[in-house]
Order: sequence, then C-alpha cells, then structure tokens
Amino acid sequence: MTSYNLLIDGKMVPGAMQMPVLNPATEDVVAQCPRASKEQLDAAVAAAKAAYPAWAATPLGERRKYIVQMADVIEANASELAHILTSEQGKPLTDATAEVMGMGGFFRYLASLDLPMKVIEDSGDRRVEAHRRPLGVVGCIIPWNYPLLILGFKLPPALLAGNTLVVKPAPTTPLATLRFAELVQGVLPKGVLNVITDANDLGDVMTRHPDIRKISFTGSTATGQKVMTSAAATLKRITLELGGNDASIVLDDVDPKKVAPGIFEGAFQNSGQVCLAIKRLYVHESVYDEICQELVAIANNTVVDDGTKQGTKLGPLQNKMQYEKVKGFLDDARKNGNVIAGGNAMDRPGYFIQPTIVRDIAEGTKLVDEEQFGPVLPVIKYSDHDDVIRRANATTYGLGASVWSSDTERAHKVASQIEAGTVWINKHLDMAPHIPFGGAKQSGIGTEFAEEGLAEFTQLQIINAAR
Ligand code: NAD
Repeated sequence: MTSYNLLIDGKMVPGAMQMPVLNPATEDVVAQCPRASKEQLDAAVAAAKAAYPAWAATPLGERRKYIVQMADVIEANASELAHILTSEQGKPLTDATAEVMGMGGFFRYLASLDLPMKVIEDSGDRRVEAHRRPLGVVGCIIPWNYPLLILGFKLPPALLAGNTLVVKPAPTTPLATLRFAELVQGVLPKGVLNVITDANDLGDVMTRHPDIRKISFTGSTATGQKVMTSAAATLKRITLELGGNDASIVLDDVDPKKVAPGIFEGAFQNSGQVCLAIKRLYVHESVYDEICQELVAIANNTVVDDGTKQGTKLGPLQNKMQYEKVKGFLDDARKNGNVIAGGNAMDRPGYFIQPTIVRDIAEGTKLVDEEQFGPVLPVIKYSDHDDVIRRANATTYGLGASVWSSDTERAHKVASQIEAGTVWINKHLDMAPHIPFGGAKQSGIGTEFAEEGLAEFTQLQIINAAR
C-alpha cells in the first residue's frame, strides 16, 4: 500500500492520527491516510504565514512560472493521479484522467492572468492608482466529487495573487490531493502550499482561525452557511460555491432524439454528483413521452461498474452516506412518481445505484424539491411557458440551468428569466477557466475563474497621491 503524508512547511510529515480511505466500488481500504491534529493545522497556518511576505514580494511573473511548473508536474503524472482518484472517488478512469488533465488546464490558463494596476485619475490635483494586493494566508476547503479539478479552480489564482495556502480535501477523497502535494512540494518555496487532512473536524477550525484571511469553500449549502457564520468572527473574506437544484427546461420545438443524449450527460455525469448537474427536468407536454422514452433507452444502455473496468460509464456513489441519502430519494421516487428506468441500488459490494428516470412526478416531493446529488432524474411535465419559469425559479438554489430549443431567440428569452449564475442553451455543464462561474441565491457567494475569480483572492488598495 502506498503511504501518504501531509505537506507542512515544505516537508511531507505523517499525520498525528490515521484514518482509512475506502474504495467506493469495493468498500475495501485503499490506504491508511494521515489525519492532522489541530496542532498540525496550526503548524500549517504558521508555515503559510511565515512564507507569505517573501511569496507576496515575488514578482507576479515569477509566481506564474511556479504555477506553470506545477501544471507540467500534473500532466507528467496524470496516469498515477488518475488511478488514485478512481480508487478513492469511484469515477471511471477515463473521467479521472480528464479531471487530472482539466486540473492542469486550469493551472495553465489561470496562471496566464494578470493583475494590472489601474490609473483611476492622473490630473493636476492628484494621481489615483488602484492596486490588487494579496490577502495573506488563504484556506481552501474542497468537496469529494471533483477533488483535483476543484483544487485546480482555487490554487492557481490564490497563489498567482501572492497568497500562501492551506488546503483541506474532503475526508473521503484525500489521497490524490496528498500525492499531488508530494509531487509539487519540491517546486514551490517551503510553506507556500500546505495540505492537511481531517475527519470533518478541521474545516470549522480553519474558518475560525485568526491567521487565515480568506476561505475559498466548495461544498454543500448547509456547510457553506456554517462557514459564513464562523468566518464572521474574524470578518474573513469568503467565496462559497455551494449546492444546486438545476432546472433544465425543454421547449416544445425540440427534436427529442437530438437533445436526449446531452440532457442525459448533463444529469448523470459523475453519477449525478455534480453541483451543476441537471437535477429537475421540465419537459413540455407535447414532447414529454418521447423525451422520457429516449432517456430510458440511454439509461438502460449505460454501463455502471467499477471505474477501473474498461467501458464503465458511471461509477458508484462516492461514499456510504451519500449512497444512503440517494436510496432515500429512490424511496421517494417510488412513492410519488413512476420509475421508468433503474430505481434500485445494485446487489453487489460498493455504493452502486442504477441510473434512474422518474416520470409523473412534480413539486412537493423530495426528489424535485431537494438536491439529490446522485443518478436519479425527475422528469416533470409542463404546459404553460410562464408557469414553467415560475416553477424553475421556485427554489432557494440558483447555481445553473439550461434551456433546450430549436429556436435560439426563444431560448435566450427563457434563459434571461431564470435566476441562476449560469444558464446554458442546448447544452449543460460546459465550463472553462476563462468563463466566470458562481451561484445565485443560496448556491453561493462570489465568483471563481477568469479575472473576476482572481480578483476575489486580492484586496483592492487605492493609492491617492497629492500633486
Ligand atoms: P460538504 O459541505 O459536506 O463538505 C465540503 C467540505 O467542507 C469538506 O472538505 C468537509 O470536510 C468540509 N467541512 C465539513 N464541515 C465543515 C465546517 N463546519 N466548516 C468548514 N468546512 C467543513 O460537501 P460534500 O458533501 O463534500 O459535497 C457535496 C456538496 O457540494 C453538494 O451540495 C454539491 O452541490 C456541492 N458542490 C458545489 C460545487 C460548486 O462549485 N458550487 C461544486 C462541487 C460540489
């Protein structure tokens, strides 16, 4: 078994405690993983604080080179990282490889950004400049659905801006992150990047820590609310990327055969464990039966298996808690809807659930009103255009949404009326590092990616000089 260590102050160190990490496809132990104590978290924060002045003073162009070097390391070790990721997360190896390469791509693109000083006024009275300064020590808290990709969203802009970091992966998926840390620890000056792990007990300590200036958090809305509450005591900056209950609206003019594969992918990618997955599908009554049939055909032909097996399209749910939660959604679906594909947990070891399509279901049920975060899609019938927009917006979430239509002008009109941070037209789940991303309503606060995301890792400073 490979051994894993924490990264604190430029050294790989054992955890004060250990915890097992399970393979969700077999429930076997993949590895014993270090678990940090509160003292080790404090040591990581102290190392990041000590490294901060020199890193902040390093020219941005130099910091950029370090991040690009890390991208080289990621790509050179993609196969190993992808195998570790599949073993702890469950996703098919092809998807894990795409995640690692995507992480490298985010490193490269985000490293290419700039933080130019802006002259606001240069007159006989005064010269006013706007500078973007780093914040100090930043804490990054990561969920278990895309452990490496989401690290790729946060680490490059945080370091490029001149901050130093303490990263904490989720307790059930820490291994690929620890291996990444080991691979890049020789690239960066010591203390600039620290990686610790926990058993869901140190996130709260990080958000309260007096020496952490900002928390960049991705996870559930419930935990995001806790982060916001704990961060208040020190008025930490926070970026929160939280849960979603994305509505996807299919208009009456679509070709069902044409749109069904994209809808299926948008709902079931990563076994539905995507913040931005389609979680409620609204279909106009005129194409309802056909869309349901097409989705059933795809679901029944989808290979669900161990992610290491060739041909696997969907892996297991990532952890037992999520598996049990999704089984609760299946019970709800059986009670309140008509299950037309899947509907069951699979009779084998591991946390496997059949891709499930549920029709004749509506609001007022758990499956429609809550975030399932699993491979169970409710298909809801509608007849009136204004009514469906009202129903799509009748949620506290506002992460993403999509509209499917053969008439782009109509689709744009619908898109403009949906309360969500991203609305796709004739696709779902298309993300890239140059396209800003963030949630509306209780799906988050702040933005990631692009210049907008980079700016969130900085403090605006105005220098206003007399003439
Ligand atoms: P989670 O909120 O349970 O955990 C996320 C992280 O927060 C983990 O690292 C966890 O250890 C840590 N944590 C736990 N308690 C904490 C506390 N009190 N303070 C600070 N940190 C704490 O989320 P999850 O179950 O790992 O992920 C699934 C959820 O994440 C879903 O709701 C999904 O929609 C959401 N998500 C959102 C995005 C996005 O970008 N908006 C992306 C991926 C996942």
